[in-house]
Amino acid sequence: MTLQRAWLGVDDLDDAQAMARSIELARLSDEHGNHPFGCVITAGGQLLVESENTVLTDLDPTGHAEIAAIRKACLARGNFDLSDCSLYTSCEPCWMCSTAIRRTGIARVVFALTSPTRSGGYSSQYQILGTPGLPGLGAPPEIVTGFMVEQSQAVWTAVNWPRPGAEPR
Ligand SMILES: [Zn+2]
Repeated sequence: MTLQRAWLGVDDLDDAQAMARSIELARLSDEHGNHPFGCVITAGGQLLVESENTVLTDLDPTGHAEIAAIRKACLARGNFDLSDCSLYTSCEPCWMCSTAIRRTGIARVVFALTSPTRSGGYSSQYQILGTPGLPGLGAPPEIVTGFMVEQSQAVWTAVNWPRPGAEPR
């Protein structure tokens, strides 16, 4: 509640504020019946878009918070160029989201938790997010890992995630 009130007055977002909102979106995703992941995209320090995970409620395996946010950002921009944007996410982007990040040229990615299923685009054996020179993809973004891990983990602990037998994302 305090976080949401603080959020409403924020115009310029620093990394901690943008990540705090991503983590709050992860909590809201769980509250709304989805997996606990959240994402914020900023441009020039301003909020561009934000999204919760929508996988279960939309019955959409592509409804990851990052994909949903990228989709909104491209629609808002009217094109696929997000090269002036930073993306904040409560957990490491998966391979699918990493590809979308690279295809839109997002300049900077900040994430909290590392993928617990070893299916992340940065920490797994398939490093789609950070590997330069991948065919069809532009330069990798600047990547900041492990940012505000404790706060993101606290949400997962509160909602008992990952749950045995549940889809990881
Ligand atoms: Zn993903």
